[in-house]
This record gives sequence, structure tokens and C-alpha cells, in this order.
Amino acid sequence: MPATADRLKNVSISASAAMTQRARELAAQGIKVVSLSSGEPDFPTPRHAIEAAYAAALAGDTKYPTMDGTPAMKAAIIRKFKRENNLTYEPNQIVVSGGGKQVIFNAVLATCNPGDEVVIPAPSWVSYADIVKFAGGVPVSVPCPENAGFKLRAEDLEAAITPRTKWLFLNFPNNPTGAACSRADMAAIAEVMLRHPNVWTLTDDIYEHLVYDDFEFCTIAEVEPRLYDRVLTMNGVSKAYAMTGWRLGYCGGPKDLIAAISNVNGQNSGGTSTLTQAAAVAALDGPQDLLKERSSIYKTRRDYVLGRLAEIQGLRAHKPEGAFYIFPNMSELIGKTTKGGRKIETDVDFVMGLVEEHHVATVQGAAYGMSPYFRISYATSMEMLEEGCNRIAQYCKDMK
Ligand code: PLP
Repeated sequence: MPATADRLKNVSISASAAMTQRARELAAQGIKVVSLSSGEPDFPTPRHAIEAAYAAALAGDTKYPTMDGTPAMKAAIIRKFKRENNLTYEPNQIVVSGGGKQVIFNAVLATCNPGDEVVIPAPSWVSYADIVKFAGGVPVSVPCPENAGFKLRAEDLEAAITPRTKWLFLNFPNNPTGAACSRADMAAIAEVMLRHPNVWTLTDDIYEHLVYDDFEFCTIAEVEPRLYDRVLTMNGVSKAYAMTGWRLGYCGGPKDLIAAISNVNGQNSGGTSTLTQAAAVAALDGPQDLLKERSSIYKTRRDYVLGRLAEIQGLRAHKPEGAFYIFPNMSELIGKTTKGGRKIETDVDFVMGLVEEHHVATVQGAAYGMSPYFRISYATSMEMLEEGCNRIAQYCKDMK
């Protein structure tokens, strides 16, 4: 067989996707699996978004789209950035792609030469490092320890930047920890970036609307306007509007960078589905009450799971400000043996034992670049969370 490209050698299938796959296999055998591994809202897409897509299809909006986003979509994104982030962009400062993931992929491909470094606060979403490696770049991980609330400390950021640094990636609220940055936290990060004029910042704000206890979300270009020309602000409709399957993400940034990203976007897709764009316009421009309603449901779930975890000996969970994840520390269980006879030496052993012996799917911290932790997603029903917590409690209690 002819060989595949060398550039794929360091790129792996995501651990959360692998765990979701294992959960599906067990379910196919008739086993009742509790899936706490998927980062996907369990709510439906808002009806007005679905109706807008249907109306667009009936009206004949089914031809090739403009490559970088329809004028209506760009206008809705510009309104969103102004309304929610106090950021002003022109249409030539916006690109629409097939999900936030594709925005990041395009941005990295458009800018990274082999050997260029991308500073990634860890733990982090599994795809960042793989995307950077795909482009021949070098991911540089900067630990955001639990005792710093899983936030990026200015001194650690400063120490990670070298003459080869091309990007800093930010993702607060964070996947997998749920940590979010206050304005003061963000201002400290911005202060460092002001000192490095050759480095861009990509801020992945996909969890913007999932913050709890009156926490106020902020984004770096708004906090420090002097960075406006070096910040790519990325967002999408997947998490906020429960539109993961529609595949739409977007970004706003400086004109020249956007032109380069738009070029890559035009080469690797013929633009984003017209029907998806019609739905996303309706989501961004339509009633926003559902964001608050859903965020309050997520908060109830977060508090429930935190309460249950607090009762489990051997686990310690930091209270996250946002997203729909909890990232418990399981270091106290290292060295124990499960009821099924599995020796727990790592967080991988812990999550594998949990899924095989108690059929609860979670993801090991190692997948996100920080051990010994595991990620619980509470983007699922209270019934599932209750059952999942019961099983996790039993699993830990039975360890010797
Ligand atoms: N960024 C982060 C931090 C995520 O966790 C995810 C999905 O899990 C994405 C981006 C991908 O979003 P999209 O569905 O828009 O591609």
C-alpha cells in the first residue's frame, strides 16, 4: 500500500473520542453505560434556528456560499461581537468556517512555519497540540496548576515565550477544567503579551456563555485594546446554542491575518453550508434567554456533582467557574487496587477501570496534558449524573 504522509505521524485520534467509542461498544453489547465523556450539550438546537435553515432551503439558498461567510452571517457575527464583547469588526475582519475547530486549523496552517512554537496553557483541549503538530509547529505546554485555580500565571507565560513563539492560545472557560479568567487575570496575561509584539493570541471563547455564580466572562481584545491588532477572537454556535452537528465557527481579527485565514479556508472547504449559516444567523440574532436558562441548569448540575464528589474519599474537585466540565484530582487513589483487580498507577488506569468495571465513561487527565486527574462532563441529564456519581462512589469505595 502506498504510504500516508509523514505529517500524520504525530497526530492521534482524540482520547475523548476514543472513550466515547468505547462507551458505544459497551452499549452495543446491551450494557447500560453512563457517558460522562462527551463535550456536547444535551439540549436541542433552538427551534427558530432550525426553522431558519428550513426556510432558507425552501427559498433556494442552496447554491455555493461565499467562501468566507455569507454577508448576512458576517453581519450577525459583527453584531454579536459588538453586543457581547464590545469589539468592532468590519466584514473583511471575519471568517466563517466549519466549526471552531476548523477556524483554529485554518489559523495555524495560515501562520505556522515548521518549528514555530505555539504556547498552550495546560491542561487543554486535546486538538490544539495535534493541529499545531499537523502544521509542523511545536506545541509548548505551560502548566496551569490546580493551586492556581487552573489559570495561566503571567510569570509562567513570560517564561514560555521564545523568539520562535508565533501564538499564545487561550481558552477560558477551559476545557477540561472549567476554569475562567476574571478581568484582572486577563489583564495580567495581556500585560505579558504587550511585551511581545511578534506573538499573536488566539482566544477560543467557545464556552463564553457557560459561566456561573454571576461570573463575568471577558475576552482579551476587549480587556486590552492595544492588543486588538494581534488577537484572533474565535467563537462558534456549537456549545452556546447546542448546534454541534451544524458545524459553524467564526473568528474576528486583524485584516491581514483574516485574509490569510480566508485563503486557507477557501482551499480546504468551499465555504460553510448555506443552511447552517441561515440557522446560525437566527441563533445569534434571535432571543437569547435560552442562554441564561441553560446556564442555570448547568450550574445546578455542576453543584450537584461537586457535592457528590466531595463525599468520595480519594477524590478532590476544584470548583469550576464555567464550561460543563469538572476535573477531579485522583492522586490519593494511586497505588490502590480496584474490586476487579486492576492496579491504579495512573489516571488512565482509573478511567479504564471505571468504564470496564462500572460502565461510566470519563476521560483521563493525561489526554489534556495534566495528571493525575480525570474529566467529568455534566452536559447530560440529572438522572445520568446521579447514576454516574453513584457508580463512581462505589468504584472508589471498593478500592483497597
Ligand atoms: N474549542 C474547545 C475548547 C472545545 O472544547 C471544542 C469542542 O469540544 C471546540 C473548540 C470545537 O468546537 P466546534 O464544535 O465549534 O468545532
